[in-house]
Parts: sequence; structure tokens; C-alpha cells
Amino acid sequence: MRRWQHLIGGRWVDGADGRTFETTNPATGAHLAEVADGGAEDVDRAVKAAEKAFRESSWATDAEGRAAALGRVAEGLIRRQGDFVDVEVSDTGLPVTQARGQAVRAASNFSFFAEMATRLSGETYPQPGRFLNYTLRRPVGVAGLITPWNTPLMLESWKVAPCLASGNTCVLKPAEWSPLSAVLLGEVIAEAGVPDGVFNIVHGLGETAGAPLVAHPDVPLISFTGETTTGKTIIRSGAEHLKRVSMELGGKSPVVVFADADLERALDAVVFGVYSLNGERCTAGSRLLVEDSIYPAFIERLAQRVAAIRVGDPTDPATEVGPLIHPDHLERVLGYLQGAREEGATVLVGGGRPAGVAGGNYLLPALITDVQPAMRVVQEEVFGPVLVAMPFHGEEEALELANGVRYGLAAYLWTEQLTRAHRLAAGLLAGMVWVNSQNVRDLRTPFGGAKESGIGREGGDYSFDFYTETTTVQVALGPHPIPKFGATPR
Ligand code: NAD
Repeated sequence: MRRWQHLIGGRWVDGADGRTFETTNPATGAHLAEVADGGAEDVDRAVKAAEKAFRESSWATDAEGRAAALGRVAEGLIRRQGDFVDVEVSDTGLPVTQARGQAVRAASNFSFFAEMATRLSGETYPQPGRFLNYTLRRPVGVAGLITPWNTPLMLESWKVAPCLASGNTCVLKPAEWSPLSAVLLGEVIAEAGVPDGVFNIVHGLGETAGAPLVAHPDVPLISFTGETTTGKTIIRSGAEHLKRVSMELGGKSPVVVFADADLERALDAVVFGVYSLNGERCTAGSRLLVEDSIYPAFIERLAQRVAAIRVGDPTDPATEVGPLIHPDHLERVLGYLQGAREEGATVLVGGGRPAGVAGGNYLLPALITDVQPAMRVVQEEVFGPVLVAMPFHGEEEALELANGVRYGLAAYLWTEQLTRAHRLAAGLLAGMVWVNSQNVRDLRTPFGGAKESGIGREGGDYSFDFYTETTTVQVALGPHPIPKFGATPR
């Protein structure tokens, strides 16, 4: 059986103490692979390898070389798309058609940032005859990249591509519930001719492999995607060395549907927006707010659609929702459903285990009504195929409900009224607002969360702001006054 190892300094290696952990197939519960279980010693070796590559290879200084190599990574991802899809489907339970899209997006991330690598430039601030000021941007050094288990390949590419494009080297710590596609990514990066040590992987659990990476004194920046509570822990531990952090955290994003919207399209977007990727999507529109005049009719149609979603084997191209990632996560999601019932909400559709799929972490997509804003299922991120719906009356209440959670990642707005759309877009406290649109992203735009959904933005130039250090150089073009302290005898 294949062993899934760490990648350190260009070599695939077991962990220092030889420990492994198991990853299982969410669709069957079957054993999938043994993976090296890293600890502080492995992290230290990987950081040293990344540091050496940063100092000794031309990676940090050769932008053209980086662009060419990352372009080859993008080609490799497309060439091996089938392998990535197979691994991702068996490791995460993502439906095969959606996993294909994720692999293509991962390739786009590499080709996009490959092109940007050659455009990395500074700015000038001339003061004619007096000063020429300009900025230099350079890579920071060894980056620690920590990723979650949902859509692992896509999220890894979202960090690795800009990090390497700007000349850094890195250590990636993939999530322990879906570690396998990172290994294929490591193979593709090596095949693309990226120098040894530029890209390293240490597998393992958060507490034993992630924490030492965050605490390592020679890792000046940490890009993290995961839960808000984990983000807080990481910030606390990174504070010791005053690390630069980028935090892409949880969400509980509202979808606001007004009676004047194109309701057919809104319905499609509501269903896809929360139940795609098995509901395990950070930007899921998991709180539906519908204008009261159309609420009953909209919910009736929505309920029919949710009940008809095809749940099943993720390798079947007809499947729309596959199994949840892990039995523990399934338990957690079921706990939210039970809690909602106990608080008086109605689980109108789904929420049970489907028949005929024993062994997998399957859950029927759930639609919950009769909720109150303060309920846990409304306030907290469930991170599964669970949608809560409530009516609102007027713009003011829509905004109050939409903004009434601690998260602020995304918001979706459906209205045909131009002025209302812009008013509401400005009033929604979210990092991204999609108007009459599902979650379609232009790679140049900033991505990130407001409130407890994150710190910082990544995407386009914003990624380069995070992954580079800026030095301002101020050059005098002639003599300018310099106070003469100590020049006159006392
Ligand atoms: P998680 O926070 O449990 O784990 C994320 C990563 O952090 C894993 O690799 C884990 O091993 C590691 N980790 C855990 N404890 C750590 C510690 N003390 N120190 C260092 N690393 C540690 O999150 P998850 O359950 O894997 O992912 C789901 C969460 O991710 C959801 O909240 C979801 O919204 C969020 N997410 C956010 C975005 C975004 O862009 N905002 C995207 C995807 C997922």
C-alpha cells in the first residue's frame, strides 16, 4: 500500500518518530491511507529546508523563473486532473462533478499568480528636485500555510500559489481529515522544477503539527484558513514572535431575497449556495431571509427542491450531495439539528440519515423554519447541508437580521431594484457581497471576512501585500536642511 509522507527539502520522508494516522473514505468508512503524523521535530526540519532554499536557491530573486515554474504547476494540475479528482473524492466525499471544478480552479490559481509574479513592482513618490522616494517589495521568508479539510486542493492552491509567486518558500500543514491531495500537489510542484525545499509539507494534527509551525521562531508569516476558534488560538501563539497573520475563518452568511427579485434564479442560487460542496463551504449562504410577502410561497418551492436533491455516492456524476467528511462532523451537525428541534424550530425537510447508504457519513440536506434570531442554529456555523430560513419585513429588518451574527464573511442579495441593491450592499457587514449572483469570484478581487470571519484580504494584489515586505527608500536629490545638534560649543 502506498505510504503518504512528509515532503521535506525535496524528499518524501517518514516522520522523525515514525508515527502515522489514518484517513478514511467518508462514503464508506473504509480505511483509505496511513499518513505520516508530524510533530515539532518534523516541522523544524521542514522550516530549516525552506530557509535554506530561501537563502541558497534563486527562488526569491528570479521572478521570471518563478513564473515559468508555477505555469508548469498549473499545466501539471490539468494533466493530472483525473488523479486529483479521484483522490479528492475518496478523501473528502466531494461529488465528482464538483471535485473536477475544484481541480480546474486550483490550476487557475497557479496560472493567475504565475503571471502576477512578473508584475510585482514598487511605487515611486517623487518630490522633484528634493527627494525620490520609492518602495521595494521583497518576499518575507518562510511562510507557514495551514489549511482546512473542505476543498483541500483548491484552498491549498489559493495559499501556495501567491506565496511562492512572491518569492517565499513555505511549509504547508494540510488538514488531517483530508491530507491526500496535498501529496499529489507536492509531486506536481516537484515535476514542474520548483527547487527542492521551496515547497514542504508536514502532515499531522493541529495541536501537534500545526501548533509548532505557528510557534516556530523562523516562520515570520502564517496564512490560516479554518475555524474562528482555531484562528484565535493561532493569533495568541503567533503573538510571541509578532507574526504576520492572514485569517480566513468561519461564516454564517445571509441570503436576502426581496419580493422584486428574479425568484427563479434566486431559488437556484439559494439551493446551490448552501448545499453544494456537501454544505461544507465557508461562504455557504446558510441563513435565508425572505421578504414576508413571498415567504410562504418561496419556502414551499424551496422545500420541494431540497427534498429532491440527489444524495449519494460521490463517485456518481448524478450525485449532488455526498457524505460529510467524518463521523465526528456528522455527529456535530446532527447535534445542531437536534438542538434546533429542542429550541422549537421546525426541521421542515431532511435532517435524517438517508436509506440505503450504510457506512457513510450521509445526511439528508435540511431546511429549518420557525427559527428565532438568537437560536444557536441561526448564530453558529454548522458547516453542513443545513439552511435556516426566516421572513423579514422591509430593508431595515433585513439588514438587522443579516448583520446580527458575529460572522461577516459573505452576503448574497437578490433584488431587481438598483438603488436598493447598492444601499443594501453598503449596509451588509461582510467581506464579500454578491448581488443577483451566486458565489462566482474574479481572482483579482479581495477575498476575506469582516468581524469574526477573518483578518486581512487575499486575492490579486492583496495576496502580494500579505506575502511581501515593503521597504520605502528615500533618496535626497540635493542638500536639505539637517538640524545641527551638538555643532555649537556649549
Ligand atoms: P480547523 O480550524 O479545525 O482546522 C484548520 C486547520 O488548522 C487544520 O489543518 C488543523 O489541523 C489546524 N489546526 C487546528 N488546531 C491548530 C492549532 N492549535 N495550531 C495550528 N493549527 C491548528 O478547521 P476545519 O474544521 O478544518 O475547517 C472548517 C472551518 O474552516 C470552518 O469554520 C470554515 O468556515 C472555515 N473555512 C474558512 C474559509 C475562508 O476562506 N474564510 C474557507 C474554508 C473553510
